[in-house]
Amino acid sequence: MVATISHWVDGKRWDGTSSRTAPVTNPATGAATGEVRLASTADVDVVVQRATAAFETWRDVPLNRRARILFAFRELLEARTDALAHAITAEHGKVVADAMGEVARGAEVVEFACGIPTLLAGRYSEQVASGVDTWSVRQPVGVAAGITPFNFPAMVPMWMHPIAIACGNAFVLKPSERDPSASMLVAETWADAGLPEGVFSVVHGDAEAVDALCTHPGVATVSFVGSTAVARHVYETAANAGKRVQALGGAKNHMIVLPDADLDVAADAAVSAGYGSAGERCMAISVVVAIEPVADDLVARIRERAAALAVGDGADPGNDMGPLVTAAHRERVAGYVDTGVDEGAQLVLDGRDVAVAGLDDGFWLGPCLFDRVEPSMRIYRDEIFGPVLSVVRAPTYEDAVRLVNENAYGNGVALFTRDGGAARRFQREIEAGMVGINVPIPVPMAYYSFGGWGQSLFGDTHVHGLEGVHFYTRGKVVTARWSDPATRGPDLGFPTNR
Ligand code: NAD
Repeated sequence: MVATISHWVDGKRWDGTSSRTAPVTNPATGAATGEVRLASTADVDVVVQRATAAFETWRDVPLNRRARILFAFRELLEARTDALAHAITAEHGKVVADAMGEVARGAEVVEFACGIPTLLAGRYSEQVASGVDTWSVRQPVGVAAGITPFNFPAMVPMWMHPIAIACGNAFVLKPSERDPSASMLVAETWADAGLPEGVFSVVHGDAEAVDALCTHPGVATVSFVGSTAVARHVYETAANAGKRVQALGGAKNHMIVLPDADLDVAADAAVSAGYGSAGERCMAISVVVAIEPVADDLVARIRERAAALAVGDGADPGNDMGPLVTAAHRERVAGYVDTGVDEGAQLVLDGRDVAVAGLDDGFWLGPCLFDRVEPSMRIYRDEIFGPVLSVVRAPTYEDAVRLVNENAYGNGVALFTRDGGAARRFQREIEAGMVGINVPIPVPMAYYSFGGWGQSLFGDTHVHGLEGVHFYTRGKVVTARWSDPATRGPDLGFPTNR
């Protein structure tokens, strides 16, 4: 009998009323390890109602008490990192060291949110008119929903809930149905940290639950991270229902290598950022743009390093790369490799036949490297989301920048060079939300905000950092008059603050 993963409501597991479930699989073995409940619209209604009730008291909890719970959550999270990482690896497939890294990056957002008493401080202006003072405050929005993808089952939700909760909201998480266990461990950790019941809920589900959250009148804001098609759908549906929405979509991240770059450093970076987590990262490098004089040399160095990567069970610390998340996704990515060959790109490293001894049913795909990819090819245009790196050759720096700026996505981008002037020009003229200079995956620290441009973001607010605090609060400005005992009579003129 397989274990059934339930929702988390009012500080405990809750089965809901829907009998629909989805299988949960270990991608390294291909074996089903459990099933997860898929909420109905009625189930979502129950969860939102419980969250609304919890919000009514949580909003009034003093800032220092909220911060103390966040500090406790941070400590427990650190103590449970190992358990959380192994749970992630068992359902996602990434190597344990990578899973530990995602928990650590998520914890940085918690650390940022611990400063909530300072982050929520407003501004005050004395004597804006005679006897009149003005100040600004930021107040919680109510129930905030988060809908998240499979590829970072701990970190991406933590871009959202620590800040939403710190700001005084109740948070409802709808995690990916492919790796749902991490969110349950996080829910238990919040409860153990002393968070009142109902402030953090988990509702598992698929499109029905997502649409129910996007249209529920009790939900004030929707934060979404996932593929571009669903991001657009969530943005339109929730915005039509009058909600504040931030919807982060897919990506096609380029790394430009100038001829003056250290090619060993660039090749190491391309391999780490291209094949880490089997390429299932929204900030993965999927295109290397090699400026012609160094292209042959760079491709050779990347190929040599990629061919040496150890592919196998993510739970084995000797491996660099685990399996893909599902059999269907493995077939989709392998299909793109077939497409690239048909389109005429040069496959210089083919991972399609990689096998792992003793794990015949795992969803394996080894590193694949294409050279001489053209911008018209589907392997260039589409987000593949697997261990497939494309090299596009560009004659000049200007050609490389044009290529990046014409791409529909605009999440991350990187430049490798030793020339400070070129780097400065690049960061000014490149069109992407996150820019790396000799840094292949420029994910901002928690006190800055994360988000892309173009088809990588619908809405105008990035996640975490100050933009996160703004997203989960509403601004209010108070203007108050306390007159001196000598008061004036009525004045029907328009207030001019003179
Ligand atoms: P996905 O879009 O399939 O799923 C994301 C969420 O949407 C899940 O919770 C899923 O249950 C739900 N969902 C799926 N189909 C839906 C539908 N038709 N209607 C309503 N809801 C639906 O994404 P994924 O495969 O889980 O994750 C990979 C994608 O996420 C990639 O495109 C990747 O680039 C993107 N991603 C982006 C960022 C970023 O910061 N921009 C970060 C991580 C992942």
